[in-house]
Amino acid sequence: MPRPIQATIHTAALRHNLNRMRAAAPDAQAWAVVKANAYGHGIEQVYEGLRAADGFALLDLSEASRVRALGWRGPIWLLEGVFEARDLELCSRLNLWHTVHCDEQIDMLALHKTHEPHRVFLKMNSGMNRLGFTPARYRSAWTRLNALPQVDEISLVTHFSDADGSKGIAEQMAHFEEATRDLPGERSVSNSAATFRHAHSATVKADWIRPGIALYGSSPDFPEHSLADWDLQATMSLHAKIIAVQDVPVGGSVGYGSSFVAEHPTRIGVVACGYADGYPRVCPSGTPVLIEGVRSQTLGRVSMDMLTVDLTALPQAGVGSTVTLWGQSAHGAVLPIDEIAHAAGTLGYELMCAVSARVPVVTA
Ligand SMILES: *Cc1c(COP(=O)(O)O)cnc(C)c1O
Repeated sequence: MPRPIQATIHTAALRHNLNRMRAAAPDAQAWAVVKANAYGHGIEQVYEGLRAADGFALLDLSEASRVRALGWRGPIWLLEGVFEARDLELCSRLNLWHTVHCDEQIDMLALHKTHEPHRVFLKMNSGMNRLGFTPARYRSAWTRLNALPQVDEISLVTHFSDADGSKGIAEQMAHFEEATRDLPGERSVSNSAATFRHAHSATVKADWIRPGIALYGSSPDFPEHSLADWDLQATMSLHAKIIAVQDVPVGGSVGYGSSFVAEHPTRIGVVACGYADGYPRVCPSGTPVLIEGVRSQTLGRVSMDMLTVDLTALPQAGVGSTVTLWGQSAHGAVLPIDEIAHAAGTLGYELMCAVSARVPVVTA
């Protein structure tokens, strides 16, 4: 028998979450962002649930090839564009749309030989200072691109640093508006947080939204809003089984460093999941889990292949009981990945991307 741990990807939940994003921006088309192997879910595993999207956005050429291999003939967008000149050959061959964020990428395009001109997304650095042309340089980049025979339509793009927080997007949106006012082309500005929190605003009318995290059942602005607040569903469940039980007397400790010491007689379940599976080692004693759908907590330190949970109030649980580390239990209870991420001092993004290769993935 394989080690009893498994990640389940929920196709119906992906479909539901995509519909939620569309409802938040009903006039826009929707990219499904599937970079980082669909946020750790697996591109092949999410394809069925997200194929109603208008396009797939990602970073790696190898991931673009995998989407094409699944039979997708619609738009694919390389969100960071090409990394070297020969990447453009694959863009031509696979008909990939790509971001242009720097002069070097325009230089590469100018030297590229292609029968079909490329659809490109000209990126503005409207204040985040990662990728893109500043507002002052945007127009000259557009003019240069527009003069190239290798370039077909040019779309206008920026990315927000604070769509999920109190600073908001107004300042960046004003820079974007100001510098693109009389330029033709479709626009795309909103990730998940901006789609939920700002896409209804009259200043944020855009042709394409680019949600990622919300599709994958994590609230883009937790803890201000939870999964349930946004009516999203968990798309990844991490389940493992209890492989041993210990009755720990008062004063007995559990796990490395004896970080948990029993103050009452405590019944411990040992779960076949550890940090080598992607469960964060930094999660403190007391991090929530579901045991056969009933909420309990971890006790003591997470080790490489195991963690320990409190069974004291669950006498019916024992070896073979299923523990939901995050996601949906078979009993209908849900433990949002955001709660575990919060306990680990990080975001749902990082946890779902970090589920390790040794965890088998199934779709449901
Ligand atoms: C990753 C990414 C997104 C999706 O962001 P979420 O916060 O996951 O919705 C959108 N746009 C760009 C450019 C990205 O890199």
